[in-house]
Parts: sequence; structure tokens; C-alpha cells
Amino acid sequence: MYTTMLNDNTPSTKTAELFNFYKDSSLARMLNFINEAVMVLSINGTIEMLNSNAASLLDSNRDVLSGENLLSLIYDKSGRSQSQLTHYLHNASTTVINSPPIEVKLTRASVGMKSLPVELSISTLPEELSSSNSLFLCILRDLTIHKAEYTSLKRKAETDFLTGLANRHKFSDYLHEQWMRCEEDKLPLSIVFIDIDHFKLFNDEYGHIAGDKCLKRIGETLSLSLPNRDTLAARYGGEEFALILPNCSAQTAQLLAIRIKRHLSQLSAKHFALMSNARLTVSMGVATQEGQRYDNSDALLNAADTLLYQAKSQGRDQICYL
Ligand code: GH3
Ligand code: MG
Ligand code: MG
Repeated sequence: MYTTMLNDNTPSTKTAELFNFYKDSSLARMLNFINEAVMVLSINGTIEMLNSNAASLLDSNRDVLSGENLLSLIYDKSGRSQSQLTHYLHNASTTVINSPPIEVKLTRASVGMKSLPVELSISTLPEELSSSNSLFLCILRDLTIHKAEYTSLKRKAETDFLTGLANRHKFSDYLHEQWMRCEEDKLPLSIVFIDIDHFKLFNDEYGHIAGDKCLKRIGETLSLSLPNRDTLAARYGGEEFALILPNCSAQTAQLLAIRIKRHLSQLSAKHFALMSNARLTVSMGVATQEGQRYDNSDALLNAADTLLYQAKSQGRDQICYL
């Protein structure tokens, strides 16, 4: 036996009328058989009916939720999601079309429970069911699992598997983002390229597994040497690493490069899990966008790359900067 989801405290006269209209309606009965979390909303967002799936999604019961306003259950301090839903309901009432889904976070009844990310699909109910298009069917889908999967996939897509540093894809996105920000705020932006010297010989001598350990160790050392949270360390290619240093002058970037080179030179055979006296050196190129020296981020990257190759051609184990 289904129960109506309207309560006696329904605020508007309109809702009271709807109560009588709907309490035994086939719509109310149908909601309880739909294998989705479903609500029926009025144009101002009041929950006129809901099924038990919708109630349990919000960790509550139907009596408590019916008559509540869905807008008041949305968790968004900026108010943007609430405005979006209001806009959708009004739009749907005038155009009588189904709106595309919107993503919101809903608060749940139990104290301490995290807000629930959901997708809301809103459709206008036909006149014979809703009397003058004033009711909307709202299907709620829990996005918790999708969000977690998305976050995990996004992290994987941006991370270098071996070293755990950002990969080249992330490097490129971040450089683009920071180039725009630093241009807008008239801040300097520095790039440091780091390439291991004669790494092929290292691999030939100690094997690829030892080579991999070495790359990991260098990645860890770079991460520990970063001056702040805005700095990004990436594995740019095989045995090449790169740093993006927003709001960092040429002088500060050069000092950082010197410090990193010193840290890397302190990595000994023990750190690379080798029995021999293996020692690695690196070459580095440092370029800075200051005073509009470069036209775009590619030009800045090119400059750092050219300086790195200058360091190589001058004998390796050194840093080149302008
Ligand atoms: P240079 O001083 O001119 O940079 O010489 P190099 O030998 O470091 O440079 P080259 O470009 O000739 O060789 C790069 C080497 O890096 C060859 C390749 O086997 C090694 N390498 C690239 N990626 C990996 C990796 O993921 N693991 C290991 N172990 N080695 C790698
Ligand atoms: Mg190399
Ligand atoms: Mg290289």
C-alpha cells in the first residue's frame, strides 16, 4: 500500500489543493514503483511528493522531506546551484521541455554525514498530471561512485607512474594556466629543465631496474626541494624533469636550481640501492618570463630547453641561465 507524501504543514494554498488532487493519484502510486530516486516539485522547489528511494538517498524519510523545499537542501554557500535550479524550474514551466541534468550537492539528515553529490534531471509533467504545468518530475542520481572514479582516473591521467610526479600532460595544462595567471597579475614565471647526464651509460652499467630506482629517487628529491605549493615538478620525458615556478624571479629560480643540483649530487650509491660508487650528475636550463621577454609559454619553454642543451654542450654537470 502506498502512502501519499504530502504533509499537513504544506505552506501554500496551492499545495493544499494539490494534496487533494494527488493523494490517491496514479502518479503518486507510480512513483513508488520507479526504481529511481524521484521527487515531484512545485515551481518554487517545494517537494510535493517523493518515493522511498529519494528519501533514503537523503538518509531521511518521506514524512520529514515532503513539504520541504529542495533548494534548502542544496549545499552550496555561493548560492549558484540554488539559482541554477530555480532557473531550470522556471524555464521548464515556460518552455515545457525537459532540461539537461544539473549537478548539485544535497545535505543529508544525519549529523556528520558528508553532503551527497547528485545529478538532478527535471522534466515538466504533462497537464493532465500536473494541472497547468505547475509540477515537475525530478530524478536524483547518486554521483558518489562516479565522482570517486573520476577523481582517481584524473589523478592517474595527470601522474607519472614511476616517479609519482606530474606527467607531461599535467605539466602542459599547468603551464598554460600559470602563464595566463602570471601575465594577468604581471608576475614573473620561471621554468627549470633538469636532464640526467649520460643516463644511457648508467642503465647499461647497472641495468634498467636500478635506472628506474634512480629516477624515483630523483623524483622524491625534487618533490622535497619545492619552495611552495604553487610549484609543479614533472617528469617531462624519460630522464628529463621540469619545474614550473609561478611568481618566481630569475634570481630565485637560479638559486633554487643551485640548491636542487646540490641535493641531487648528494644522492649516493646507497640511495640508488647500488653496491658500487655510482654517482649521477645533471644538467639544467633555467628561463624566466620577466618584462615580457617571451611572447608565449612555448617560447619560454624553448628558451629553457636551449639553455639545457647549452649546459650539455659545455660539458654537462652545470646550470645555464640567461
Ligand atoms: P645526455 O647526457 O646527453 O643526456 O645523455 P643520456 O644518455 O642521458 O641521454 P640519451 O637521450 O642518449 O639517453 C636517455 C636514456 O634514458 C636512455 C634511456 O634508456 C633512459 N631512460 C629513459 N626513460 C627511462 C626509464 O623510464 N627507465 C630507465 N631505467 N631508463 C630510462
Ligand atoms: Mg640525459
Ligand atoms: Mg634527455
